[in-house]
Amino acid sequence: MPLISILIPVYNEEDNLPLFYERLRDFAGTSEDSYEFIFVDDGSEDRSFQILKDLATRDSRIRVVRLSRNFGSHAACLAGLISSSGEACVSMPADLQDPLELIQRMTAEWKNGYEIVFGVKETGKRGPRLFQRIYYGMVRKLALRNMPRTGVDLFFLDRRVVDVIISIREKNTSILGLILWSGFSQATVAYKKEPRLRGVSKWTTAKKMKLFIDTFVSFSYFPVRSISVVGMIVSLLGFLYAIYIIVNRLLFAFPIEGWASLMVILLVVSGIQMMMLGILGEYLWRNFDESRKRPSFIIKETVGMKETE
Ligand code: UDP
Ligand code: MG
Repeated sequence: MPLISILIPVYNEEDNLPLFYERLRDFAGTSEDSYEFIFVDDGSEDRSFQILKDLATRDSRIRVVRLSRNFGSHAACLAGLISSSGEACVSMPADLQDPLELIQRMTAEWKNGYEIVFGVKETGKRGPRLFQRIYYGMVRKLALRNMPRTGVDLFFLDRRVVDVIISIREKNTSILGLILWSGFSQATVAYKKEPRLRGVSKWTTAKKMKLFIDTFVSFSYFPVRSISVVGMIVSLLGFLYAIYIIVNRLLFAFPIEGWASLMVILLVVSGIQMMMLGILGEYLWRNFDESRKRPSFIIKETVGMKETE
């Protein structure tokens, strides 16, 4: 059996970790060389790191990577991928929402020859919810064509994919986007996600917004292309309106319309311009951020890592 690295991003999960580890141990059995568990402590402010350190003294398969502060679960996953040595890596949140048995089903698909296996939430009979349908429909149409229609909760990657992802070193991106973009063959496995029993979801609206913008700006030229299209449409409308006014004035001696129409045009057009500047700013800022070459995360300490690096 080849070694599989299980990557577990952890951010303030002290209430979940003991039970999570118990389940992980039951799942993985006692075999020393089928699994390694890479916990990435994403700057937790609670006792998570302490708990992980204790667990690591009891189980030699546990490796802990501690980041210097909270960098977000994508950076944490990347840190996990970089620290992994398995033939394949699978991501697994520590909040007990996702059944570990899924790893077996994903491994089976991997052995069938798929380099990427996604764990996706079952949607039930009615299919994905409206918002989800619109969001992932947009992503599929404008950015990443091979995005599963229900989104992705977990990923299982062959070593070849892992090596590609960690060599990219792109910032302000989505790790899922990079995986999809890499274009290796992909399969999906549907499963039932349990509700979170302890702690709170760390997905704030601000983080969701950031991911949304990152996805479209990093993997699609739609935003910057739409600027030109909107600009063209607005100037065309302006041009038509000018002809309308001139014709009215010359043929029908209409009085030239005043304040209201001017004001509306001024507000609409300056609003559009502001939005365009914002979109351009997104690209400019990314360029700036990329050129500063700051790392996506900083490792503060590690526990139980092999001495290879
Ligand atoms: N997580 C993390 N850093 C963050 C946010 C979340 O490492 O900034 C971890 C979190 O501890 C959990 C996993 O990522 O193990 C999934 O997070 P969460 O349960 O909040 O996401 P959801 O299940 O709501 O998608
Ligand atoms: Mg969760």
